[in-house]
Amino acid sequence: MTRDPRFDILFEPVRIGPVVAKNRFYQTPHCNGMGWTQPEALAALRGVKAEGGWAVVCTEEVEIHPTSDCEPFHEGRLWDDDDIPALARMVEAVHAHDALAAIEIMHHGASCANWGTREAPLAPSHRPIIYYAPVQARAMDKSDIRALRRWHRDAAIRARRAGFDIVYVYATQDLSIAMHFLQARKNVRTDEYGGCLENRVRLLREIIEDTKDAVGDRCAVAVRLGVDELIGPSGITHDGEAHDIVAMLAELPDLWDVNLSTWANDSQTSRFSREGFQEHYTSFVKRLTTKPVVGVGRFTSPDSMVSQIRRGILDFVGAARPSIADPFLPVKIQEGRIDDIRECIGCNICVSSDYTSTNLRCTQNPTMGEEWRRGWHPERIPKKGSDGSVLVIGAGPAGLEAALAAARRGYEVHLAEAGSELGGRVERESSLPGLAEWRRVRDWRVGQLTKLANVRIYRESLIEPDHVLGFGATHVIIATGATWRSDGVGRENGAAVRGFDGADIFTPDHIMSGRMPAGPVLIFDDDHYYMGGVIAERCREAGLPTTLVTPAAIVSAWTTNTLEALPIARRLAGLGVEIVPYTNVVGFSASSVLLQSSLTGAISSRQAASVITVTARLPVEELFLALESRGEDLGKAGIASLARVGDCFAPSTIQQAVYSGHKHARGLDAAGPEELRKRELPSMEARWTHVA
Ligand code: ADP
Ligand code: SF4
Repeated sequence: MTRDPRFDILFEPVRIGPVVAKNRFYQTPHCNGMGWTQPEALAALRGVKAEGGWAVVCTEEVEIHPTSDCEPFHEGRLWDDDDIPALARMVEAVHAHDALAAIEIMHHGASCANWGTREAPLAPSHRPIIYYAPVQARAMDKSDIRALRRWHRDAAIRARRAGFDIVYVYATQDLSIAMHFLQARKNVRTDEYGGCLENRVRLLREIIEDTKDAVGDRCAVAVRLGVDELIGPSGITHDGEAHDIVAMLAELPDLWDVNLSTWANDSQTSRFSREGFQEHYTSFVKRLTTKPVVGVGRFTSPDSMVSQIRRGILDFVGAARPSIADPFLPVKIQEGRIDDIRECIGCNICVSSDYTSTNLRCTQNPTMGEEWRRGWHPERIPKKGSDGSVLVIGAGPAGLEAALAAARRGYEVHLAEAGSELGGRVERESSLPGLAEWRRVRDWRVGQLTKLANVRIYRESLIEPDHVLGFGATHVIIATGATWRSDGVGRENGAAVRGFDGADIFTPDHIMSGRMPAGPVLIFDDDHYYMGGVIAERCREAGLPTTLVTPAAIVSAWTTNTLEALPIARRLAGLGVEIVPYTNVVGFSASSVLLQSSLTGAISSRQAASVITVTARLPVEELFLALESRGEDLGKAGIASLARVGDCFAPSTIQQAVYSGHKHARGLDAAGPEELRKRELPSMEARWTHVA
C-alpha cells in the first residue's frame, strides 16, 4: 500500500536546533514502571518505538541527584557517571532505527519524599511535599540554587556523553522544581527568584541557558512547560502567566513541548476527554515562538494529526499513550495501513504500571513491556511450530486476541461466539457512560481477523462439549469469560449477604443488558475499580436516586492508579450520587438495606427499592471443566491441547484478558507454559559514587 498524500506533511523533516527529526512523530516522555531498575527492558521498549517510525523517542523523568529520589516509583536516574551506561543502552536502541533520543532530565523538588535516599526535599519555599507523605521540603538558599544549576548542568553533560540528541528542561506536571519556582502559590520568596513573574521565571531561564551552554553545540535543548493547571487564576493559566512565560523565553530553547499540568490533567482518560483535548490550552504557543512546538492529546487519527499541523497548532504530533498502544503508528500511516493502527482506548492501565512500579502494560498492546524479558514484538510473532487447527470459544478480548495471535502464527483458526455480536465484555461495557472508546479493543481485533484468510468466525454459536469433541481442532482455547456475582461475596463479605437473592438484586450484567432497577437504588461497590462509578452514572442518567456504598475510603478507589479517582468523585458528586464510604452492606429485605460501618461496627439501615451489587465475578468455566473431565475423549478427538484464557481462567482487567489470550497463543506449540526468559539482576559491580 502507499501513503495517502494528505498525510505527506506528517513525514516532513523538522529541524530542532542542531539536530533534525526525520518526521513529525514525537514520542513524548512517559513513565513505565521500570525506570532505572530495568535498563535492558526499557532500552528494548524504546527501541521498538524507534523501529515503529517515531522520529524522536524520549525517556521518562530522569532524576539528576539523590535529593530528587522518586522511590518507590521507578523513574530514570542520572545521578552520576555510573548511570550513563544504562541510558546509553537506550540511546543505542533508538539510534539503531535512525531516530533521535531525547532525555527528560529533571529535579523533583517538592514532589517526592526522597524515601530511598532520605535526603530532605528541596523547594522554593518551605512547604509539604505534593504527594501525601509526612515530609516537608525545605526552602532553598542561594547556595542550593547554585548547586541545583550545577547538578542540572552536569546531568546534561552526562546525557550528551550517553549519546542523547535532545536534552530537556522540565517545568510541568507540578512535578519539577523549575515549575515550583514558577508557581506564585508555592514560591513566596522575597529575593530575585520570587515575587514578580520575571523573578519566578529566573531559575527556568538560567537552567535553559546553562543547558544550552553545556551541551547546546551538539544537543537540542527542549523545554517542557505546563501551560495550564486547570485551577484557575491561583495557578498557571494558558491565557495568563503561561502566555507571559512563553513570551519571555520564546526563542531561548530549541523546542517547546507544552502540555497540561498535573499528570492527571495531562493524561486524561477517554472517560473524561476526547482526542485533541489540549488544543484549547496549547494553541497560543506557536504564535509566540519560531521554535518547533510539540503537544499531546491522545492522537491516533492521522486526520487529526494533519489538522494540528496545517492549522498551525503544533509542529510535532506528540504521543505517549498512542505510542504505547501502537509503537508502529507512524510506519502504518507511512505505509497507508490506517486500518491497522491499534488505537489507544484511553483507559490508563499503562499509568497504573508507574503507580505500582511494575513493567509497563497496555490494554491494546499485550507485548508492551515484554519486548526484552519475553522477546515479544508488537508486529512480529513466530510462525507456528506444528501443524493443526485452533478452535477458540468466546469472542471477548481474550478470545479475539488468542484467535488473532494464533492466526498470525499461521494456524487455521475457528472462532465461535454464542452471541450475535463479537467483543464479549468490551462490547457490553463500552455501552456504559464514558466507555465508548473501549470498543476499539474489539474493533481493531475484529478488523484484523477479517483480513486473514485462515480465520473463520461463527456467530450465534453456543458451543457445548460434544461440539468441541466433534469439531476436529488440534488446539482448543476456552475464552468464555465471567459473570458478575449477585450474592454480594467479595473482598468484604466471605459469605452470601442475607437477602441478596431476590428480584430486587441486580448486577452490572443486568444493567449492561438493559434491565434497569427501580429507584431509589443502592450500589454496593466492593470492586473498587471503574464499574461501580460507571453504573452509578448510568442510574443517574435513568433518573434514579442513587447511593453508592463502599467499604473503601473513596469511590472507585483503585482508579487512583489510573489518575481518575478525583474526576470520578467529582462527576458523581455533580450528578447527585450520594457516596457512603467506610461501609459494608450486610443485608437486604423489604426495601431496607442493612449497612455496617467499618469504622465503628454500628449497624444502620437505608431505604432502597433495589440493590446493584458490584463485588466480584465468577468464571464461566462449565465448558472447560466438562471437557477437562473427558480426558480420553479429548485424545480420541485429536485434541492436543485444551486451555482456558482470560476471565474464564481468572477474572481480571480487560488488559489482562488480552494479555492472557496473546500469551497462550504464542506458546501453543511450546513444550510447556511460557516462562519469563530473562530478568534483570542488580550488578555486583555497581558502586556508590559520591555526588558532589
Ligand atoms: P474475556 O474477558 O475473558 O475475553 P468475555 O466475558 O469478554 O471474556 O467474553 C466471553 C465471551 O464468550 C462472551 O462473548 C460470551 O458470549 C462467549 N461465550 C461464553 N460461553 C460460550 C460458549 N459456550 N460458546 C460460545 N461462546 C461463549
Ligand atoms: Fe492507551 Fe490504555 Fe494502552 Fe494506556 S493502557 S496506552 S490508555 S490503551
